[in-house]
Amino acid sequence: MSFRVCDSIPPVATFGLANYDDLLRGCTCRRAIKEGRIVHAHMIKCHIVTSVRLANRLLVMYVKGGSLEDARQVLDGMPQRDVISWTAMMSGYSQNGRSFEALEQLPRMLRTGQDHGRQIHSLAVKTNFDSHMFVGSSLLDMYSKAGEIKDARRVFNLLPHRDVVSCTAIISGYAQSGLDEEALEVFQQLHREGMECNYVTFVSLLTAVARLAALDFGRQVHGLVIRSELLSYVVLDNSLIDMYSKCGSLKHSRRVFDNMLERSVISWNTMLTGYSKHGLGREVVQLFKSMSREVKPNGVTFLAVLSGCSHGGLIDEGLDIFGYMVSDQRLKPEIGHYGCVIDLLGRAGRIEEALDVMKNMPYEPTSALWNSLLGACRLHAKISIGEFVAQKLLDIEPGNASNYVILSNIYAASGRWKDVARVRESMKLKKLTKEPGRSSIQLDKFMHIFFSSDRSHPQRKEIFDKITEVCERIKEAGYAPDLSCVLHDVDDEQKESILLGHSEKLAIAFGLMRSAGHESIRITKNLRICIDCHNFAKYVSDVYQREISLRDNSRFHLVAGGTCSCGDYW
Ligand code: ZN
Ligand code: ZN
Repeated sequence: MSFRVCDSIPPVATFGLANYDDLLRGCTCRRAIKEGRIVHAHMIKCHIVTSVRLANRLLVMYVKGGSLEDARQVLDGMPQRDVISWTAMMSGYSQNGRSFEALEQLPRMLRTGQDHGRQIHSLAVKTNFDSHMFVGSSLLDMYSKAGEIKDARRVFNLLPHRDVVSCTAIISGYAQSGLDEEALEVFQQLHREGMECNYVTFVSLLTAVARLAALDFGRQVHGLVIRSELLSYVVLDNSLIDMYSKCGSLKHSRRVFDNMLERSVISWNTMLTGYSKHGLGREVVQLFKSMSREVKPNGVTFLAVLSGCSHGGLIDEGLDIFGYMVSDQRLKPEIGHYGCVIDLLGRAGRIEEALDVMKNMPYEPTSALWNSLLGACRLHAKISIGEFVAQKLLDIEPGNASNYVILSNIYAASGRWKDVARVRESMKLKKLTKEPGRSSIQLDKFMHIFFSSDRSHPQRKEIFDKITEVCERIKEAGYAPDLSCVLHDVDDEQKESILLGHSEKLAIAFGLMRSAGHESIRITKNLRICIDCHNFAKYVSDVYQREISLRDNSRFHLVAGGTCSCGDYW
């Protein structure tokens, strides 16, 4: 072979990058590593700033020449690396029988080049590495964090062994993507296969359970937590408190809270929020008082306490606490705190004052705030302010059908039928439809989901018969369907049948059919409960002597003996 690199390479001025490129390629082809080193040394001496392309040339040259340590140094010195660099390095290791080091590169690659994840994955598949534990877990973690749950699952299915890390990654991947039922399903399956759990697994599971309000499942997870002796983790206890409270079982939340050896401000806030969402204002205020002796409250604490006062109808206490927060604790109120004050005043019928707070606060009012004020106007029949507020809302969110519904409720409540018709007409013109209502109820460890006017349930016939029967019985007790909740332009009979198809009524009827007489019926709904369903639930709780706990997208309604914990204000 007659290839030689001249020992006296000309100075850099006459020697461009392209020449280095050519030289290195020549060295590579001929496996001339000694000459390659001289070129490399010259580049360093002349302070040549290597481009990624040139660095890759060097890397490949060393790999092909069998000097992996030199290759590694080039790779580590690269400010950015691309897939080619990594591929070269990996194939170098694997061709030299150093497959473990090759595998080691993958997770590092994934960490440095998330954007190239998919390319790297296909590379891993080609080199038959993707089912290797080490690589698989990293790929799984990457896909799961990026929310690419299908790919994460594919990688997971290929893993030769599953350990606590990979199982947790897939479960939390589902939970983080909001696929709560799938998260629980995967857990059940893996649990049967003998998977182990750590506290991260439990926290992910409890998040999913809480969102689904799947109390039975939550209890099982709690049992596993106790058996796993992980109880002393504050984060885990906080998740348990949150789970029980979102599943409607505050008694259990409180038990976990009381048994904690050490509580963080988050523990207190979680417990306070639980009471608050259930409308238990007195408990909120009481707990808040004992908290102040132990931990310094923060903004979240006051949000929970103020909304607890508002949900529980403790107007004066709430206004006092707001004053204490601003003057004694010197905390700057955020928009949420103002929202609670507006809600408190609105609930008390002090609508003008609420409007004043809204105008003078240092934030732009959100649709949620206008909405709360609109609810107050409906409750206290303040039609002119109600109209003003509704108009504001329609300006902010012209596409939200529920604003039209509330405005029409306000008109209907004061018998202004022409205006009801006008609202209905403008809604029809804008072709607005509401997001379909969805309610779920857990019975016998199964989650049953109902959509409004759902006719897909295998027991639909029995459910509709049951609703008709329930409706007749509660009508005798005084229930009258509130037809103003229906904005469709149909006759009254059809309106009534539309109302009866609301998803929470289907779930209530199903709960009455399928659960024992003393059990309370627990329902979760994706939207705010409508006035008619709220009424329906109150009558059912009285006539059938059943407690109904209904969590809608804003709060809990604990309905018993004909009244609701929200005091008809939500
Ligand atoms: Zn309804
Ligand atoms: Zn209620």
